[in-house]
Amino acid sequence: MRLPTQLTLALSKGRILEQTLPLLAQLGIAPLEDPETSRKLILETAHPSVRLLIIRAADVPTYVEYGAADLGVTGKDVLMEHGGQGLYEPLDLKVARCRLMVAGRPETSIAGRRRVRVATKYVRAAERHFAARGQQAEIIKLYGSMELAPLVGLADLIVDLVESGNTLRANGLVPLELIAEISARLIVNKAAWKMKHESVLTLVDALRAAGAAS
Ligand code: ATP
Ligand code: MG
Repeated sequence: MRLPTQLTLALSKGRILEQTLPLLAQLGIAPLEDPETSRKLILETAHPSVRLLIIRAADVPTYVEYGAADLGVTGKDVLMEHGGQGLYEPLDLKVARCRLMVAGRPETSIAGRRRVRVATKYVRAAERHFAARGQQAEIIKLYGSMELAPLVGLADLIVDLVESGNTLRANGLVPLELIAEISARLIVNKAAWKMKHESVLTLVDALRAAGAAS
């Protein structure tokens, strides 16, 4: 793959990295050090024109929006919270799939309730969801372990990512409503899309082909 300009691609450790690296490897973009164990935050790759930034998942859209990275890979959940301004989202990589769901205790009924309390890391998505249903909701921002909130009376419901449902089940919770199907997306800085068009397009097309083939 010939790229006329240098490209910087932002990724996060964990699921996104694990599931994106095999696609990148097909394009000759293999990091020269193991990103899961290296302490370096900038990794050169076997492709001379591509380097990787290893950052927190929620920070990927910010680096790409400001052009500190030309491209990034991030979950749709993260994009929904970020708002997606200053970004193009040209490709669904269809990896790191899960669902953004409302969950609660099986006996929870919000029918006829004027107001419910919802604990979540996904404040914007939750606000939008309950507003669309015409349900008043008090959203309580948490940073993790949302499953605990209904068990100790912090909230009636949670909004969280669900993959197998095992974490919910282990805590006596059940999925109640689907908000969105989630997968990893390739995002591109708007200026890079114009100024580095040939390189960006080559990479997007190659990633699309690698995804279709696997
Ligand atoms: P951190 O764990 O560093 O606080 P994070 O929770 O955002 O950050 P990950 O747990 O690696 O980071 O999740 C990254 C992305 O993986 C999520 O934003 C989501 O798009 C995707 N993902 C896929 N399946 C799941 C799942 N079952 N639970 C959480 N995230 C998932
Ligand atoms: Mg996590």
